Amino acid sequence: MYLLEAYVTNASLNVNRPFTYLSNEEVEVFCRVKVLFHNASTQAIVTECTYTDETIDQIKERLGYEPLMILDVTDESPVISKELFDLSIWLSKTTVSPFISCLNAMLPKALKTSRSQKGPKMIECFHKYEGDFSFTKKQQEVYEQLFDGIEASKARKISVSIINKLLSMNAISSYFKEASYQSADYDLSAFQTLTEDQKKVYEQLISSDKMVSLLYGVTGSGKTEVYLHLARYYLEKGKDVLILVPEISLTPQMIHRVRQRFNDVVFYHSELSDQERYEQYKRVKNKEVRIVVGTRSSIFLPFSDLGIIIIDEEHDQSYKQDSVPCYHVKNVAIKRAIDHKAKVLLASATPSLDSYSRALKGDYQLLELKDRINHSFPKIEIIDLNKQIRNHSSYIITKPLEEEIGKCLSNHKQAIILLNRRGYSPIVKCSECSSVLMCQDCDTPLNYHKDENILKCHQCGRTYKVIDRCPVCGHKPLLYYGFGTKKAEEDLQKLFPDARIERMDRDSTYKKGAHELILKRFEQHETDILLGTQMISKGLDYPDVTLVGILNADAGLMHQDYNSAKVTFDLLMQASGRSGRSADSGKVLIQAFNPDHYAIKAVLNQDYTYFYNIEMNYRNKTSYPPYSHIIEVVLSDDNNQRALSCADFFYQQIRDLPFKIYKPFELRKSKASYHYRLLIMGKDLLNMLKETHKALNTYIGTRKHARVKIDVDPLYLE
Ligand code: ADP
Ligand code: ZN
Repeated sequence: MYLLEAYVTNASLNVNRPFTYLSNEEVEVFCRVKVLFHNASTQAIVTECTYTDETIDQIKERLGYEPLMILDVTDESPVISKELFDLSIWLSKTTVSPFISCLNAMLPKALKTSRSQKGPKMIECFHKYEGDFSFTKKQQEVYEQLFDGIEASKARKISVSIINKLLSMNAISSYFKEASYQSADYDLSAFQTLTEDQKKVYEQLISSDKMVSLLYGVTGSGKTEVYLHLARYYLEKGKDVLILVPEISLTPQMIHRVRQRFNDVVFYHSELSDQERYEQYKRVKNKEVRIVVGTRSSIFLPFSDLGIIIIDEEHDQSYKQDSVPCYHVKNVAIKRAIDHKAKVLLASATPSLDSYSRALKGDYQLLELKDRINHSFPKIEIIDLNKQIRNHSSYIITKPLEEEIGKCLSNHKQAIILLNRRGYSPIVKCSECSSVLMCQDCDTPLNYHKDENILKCHQCGRTYKVIDRCPVCGHKPLLYYGFGTKKAEEDLQKLFPDARIERMDRDSTYKKGAHELILKRFEQHETDILLGTQMISKGLDYPDVTLVGILNADAGLMHQDYNSAKVTFDLLMQASGRSGRSADSGKVLIQAFNPDHYAIKAVLNQDYTYFYNIEMNYRNKTSYPPYSHIIEVVLSDDNNQRALSCADFFYQQIRDLPFKIYKPFELRKSKASYHYRLLIMGKDLLNMLKETHKALNTYIGTRKHARVKIDVDPLYLE
């Protein structure tokens, strides 16, 4: 008899401990088993299996209860390594999330503990036997066309009846193998010779005794080329390399550059199908490839010997998962680097405050690339929108911007126009009673989408028919305020009827592969103006782009959030970095209502340090990160009273802790739910985590109903 310890998969079960089961056969640790839990059959993952010669009665006597027998063993081999299992325990502790949700965040769908029935896709194949068979002429012909391992679907195309006959004669037999996704092979071509500056960075990193390095390199300074050389260095040492990027579809050039140089690369991201993800996961596990370029979740791939983890644009918000477990990829990368004795390279033109301050303190090695490869920075101008409005200029495309776009087009160059709001008009308002049309499920104004002629909630996606009368007072007409990319596109096209304009935002790219097509057309100069949301601010490197225009550049500063200046600064710096990347000198025009705000001034002077100093001063005074840690607890329910009383209950558990504790605060209603937020702020993160776990366990123990979401060091607080 074997005694098993197994973690039960049950999303509603917030229990971070294994349960004991019995098995007649030995089960390998980290395989999944089918078990009964509360009378329902469910999956569990085995973490211990010990032989015992006790009888059931003796076991019962010793434990005080009789463990259940497992129903079945799901896997033949472990679904996860010891390292990754320990990582999921660590993740559960540091993000205050259920262990099972951490484990599932790490595995591709086909291996998730809850999904055993939907395993990897299997293909039926035929095994062909040699021998003396008494065939008819027809059968002989078909038999000869078959080869060992032929896919059954292909064989049956020749003749179903004869294939069936051959099967019954045992001339062939059928078996199933896992479908495999063939990835293309690419030629190895020359690496660019590193410049003196790049070489220095490269050498400093590989000879450093610090585990983590931060490369602060301005846009166009050749960071990507350094990554590729470092990748080669670690591959030659027989190590694995992981390059993390914010979003694969927005970085086609980076992919191209990696493919040019390395024969076999795994690209791991959310646009892959479940089957493709599983295939790539397996290839990493089987050590078939040693270099991966991927988005956030690639940090959990089963590498066996990591040499370096490179995080490109390390400040990017996509590196934080905003659903449970709310982990930050940087923390996971550092944890894995410790386990693998590997290096972590964080890189950005606008490093996160946390990373840069650690680098200044000497916790991380600080590496710098201060100059662009082409030694030329774009010329930046700020356009004061208040002045433009006083002069009766449009505040969507102002006169100065219009002139620059005209010049750019007549020089046969390209322009990028950034507006970080999609749709047509973000506000529809009654001219009589001033009521704003709102989503019924969220406290969010409805956006007017002109091409579909609907009103859309950008919070939850719910759509509404356009109405012409105010639902409150019955007055008409309704007024449309503000503008999004669709409206800007319309205006641009009116100003430049001959220009080829393309729009890139969530509405124009919801189809798979749409990003790539839009960027390809722009790259081949089939488009003159690319207009879009933050999607177009990242990573693009097109030599013909000599103008970047930023509309409503400071809209993000209106958000009452501690991080909004940094987010705005990053966006504007990234976007302006798209201009003048080749021999042609570039220009950037920034339209803003607050031209004197330090974030805008810092962009004007391309001065990260100026921004950093002012922002850190503010964070210090207000005790916001990186001067403190925040644990955010949000309680949600579709019943407002229940959400509030649960939040109050939770608050009672934490109110006397020696940290700064914020009372329940009502957030905007969203997706038909009410949300209350509690905050725990302090410097001692370890103790904050410990106390939050305690409070959470008490909360769960009392079987309260409201859903809890915990986010450690959230990137924004709304
Ligand atoms: P970043 O990642 O810092 O924005 P990139 O690596 O994209 O910078 O480099 C900017 C441009 O300079 C690219 O077009 C790239 O091909 C080119 N480049 C980078 N390093 C070199 C080099 N050592 N020699 C020649 N061109 C280079
Ligand atoms: Zn909504």
